[in-house]
Amino acid sequence: MSHTKILTKKKKNIALIAHDERKQDLIEWVKFNKGTLSQHNLFGTGTTGSLITRELGLKVKTFLSGPLGGDQQIGAKIAEGEIDFLIFFWDPLESNPHDPDVKALLRITVVWNIPVACNRATADFLISSSLLSEEYKRSVIDYAKRYGT
Ligand code: PGA
Repeated sequence: MSHTKILTKKKKNIALIAHDERKQDLIEWVKFNKGTLSQHNLFGTGTTGSLITRELGLKVKTFLSGPLGGDQQIGAKIAEGEIDFLIFFWDPLESNPHDPDVKALLRITVVWNIPVACNRATADFLISSSLLSEEYKRSVIDYAKRYGT
């Protein structure tokens, strides 16, 4: 199967999303890593992004709220190559009306081979990686070639 390489720049475009029961966890994680995160471009779903800006003063480009399509908007930006890193603290104990969107978003992170953390331990490992501040060539399966499009 053939692959193509996609360049991820030193300055990452990082999306931050948390379900309601996980928002406090994400806020604490962002607060702890504020210095590092402030060196990158931050994006978020409506409520999560606004909360981060209000509580921590970080600039976050917000999309719609998750249940209103924000997860899908972020998925589209991943497919367009405009978001290359995702921290997504989804709630493992509650179902949500937009669960299909959550599944679609997680799926698209695999298609485009971007780093994704769904819990704090993984987020800690990702943010402390030396690759975070370096250029990185993501290897992506050349699906277009595979399907002859
Ligand atoms: P929210 O969306 O940040 O607008 O709450 C998160 C989500 O439920 O995906």
